[in-house]
Amino acid sequence: MQIKNICCIGAGYVGGPTMAVIALKCPYINVTVVDANPNKTKAWNGPLENLPVYEPGLAEVVKEARGRNLFFSDDISGNIDKAEMIFMAVNTPTKTEGEGAGMAADLRYIEACARDIAKHSKSDKIVIEKSTLPVRTAEKIKEILEENSSNIHFEILSNPEFLAEGTAIQDLFKSDRVLIGGDETEFGQKAVAALVDIYANWIPKEKILTTNVWSSELAKLASNAMLAQRISSINSLSALCEKTGANIDELSKAIGMDHRIGPHFLKASVGFGGSCFQKDILNLVYLCKYYGLDEVAEYWHQVVKINDYQKDRFAQKIIDYFGGDLTGKRVAILGWAFKANTNDSRESAAIYIAEKLYKAGAILEIFDPMVSEESIFRDIDFYWEASKIEDLTSRISVLGSISTLDLSIDAAAILTEWEVFKTLDFS
Ligand code: ADP
Repeated sequence: MQIKNICCIGAGYVGGPTMAVIALKCPYINVTVVDANPNKTKAWNGPLENLPVYEPGLAEVVKEARGRNLFFSDDISGNIDKAEMIFMAVNTPTKTEGEGAGMAADLRYIEACARDIAKHSKSDKIVIEKSTLPVRTAEKIKEILEENSSNIHFEILSNPEFLAEGTAIQDLFKSDRVLIGGDETEFGQKAVAALVDIYANWIPKEKILTTNVWSSELAKLASNAMLAQRISSINSLSALCEKTGANIDELSKAIGMDHRIGPHFLKASVGFGGSCFQKDILNLVYLCKYYGLDEVAEYWHQVVKINDYQKDRFAQKIIDYFGGDLTGKRVAILGWAFKANTNDSRESAAIYIAEKLYKAGAILEIFDPMVSEESIFRDIDFYWEASKIEDLTSRISVLGSISTLDLSIDAAAILTEWEVFKTLDFS
């Protein structure tokens, strides 16, 4: 089956970069990314220096493909109808209310997306889950598609995204693996083959792994859980190092030189952030509980609990240093993004640490090279429930440049590993 038109629903951190790379590598396919938020598509069509997602190398890819075979559009219905293959790349946050609140994935966006696909499709479609979803969501999507359409065949594939923010474009160019899950039926296998053909334009065939749908859905959750588990493991040991006089960097090096363990993801930190790790683990915990696997659920839940402990411990050390009260103390918050080389701050450790310091009385001076003042205040508003806090701006300011940081501050919390912080003259 030759695919000529792809539609991707959701122009966010996953949809935008992934589709830009598919368009770049497959010039014979028209790739259109649609989004319900017109400001998003407008920004994707705007100046390259202000794209809604910052990723090294992304602007160059967009520059080459945009207008040639990469398009960003508000016309959701028209582009669904035109495409033979539709990617679902909408957000799947953790549920905030109802059954599974605080744990299960909120599937309302994915369900709305499926209803849109059913409503606007006039021919058979291959529908691809790109967003990270609980195992067996494909079943639910199929149900919605079939209930809301007639005489159209939908084939659902799972093709989870493994890119890491900050290196998304490199990860997409040289993926460790591409995972495609499909039904073991004839139609299912044809759809899998069509998607394999697309990736085979730049990914070596041996790195394209095909599985059944459930394995593919679960592999994404499990991968993120294993990565996060390494971080929590090393962070838990950092607490023990501080008590015993062992050095966590020396420990990481010694552990990581064992080829069975390897050196990656063994750097102690203030805890992981980002939209995926916590959400995916909680999702896994919820699934385990749902199936009555309480011990397994508790095992994975501990990864998140250690992460919360590490964030709390870091902030508490600063508070303790000043005798339990930060009133009048000026603390620089260096870094707001959840990691370097991204403007994404979802679930960033900086948000939680800044909140704890603020609530202990500190005056905060925040700087991040990529996260705007507007986004920082939006995060504060959202995560701190700041509507309940009076006169926020009298104790919080956001610096436009690191050179404006007044070095008479009482403390600096370096919370994102941006290069620029490594060369600051702290003396
Ligand atoms: P991710 O990190 O998973 O890419 P983002 O929040 O960055 O998540 O992006 C998801 C995008 O999906 C947002 O731009 C949002 O506006 C869009 N979106 C959510 N639901 C729908 C929908 N039903 N139709 C079209 N776009 C949607």
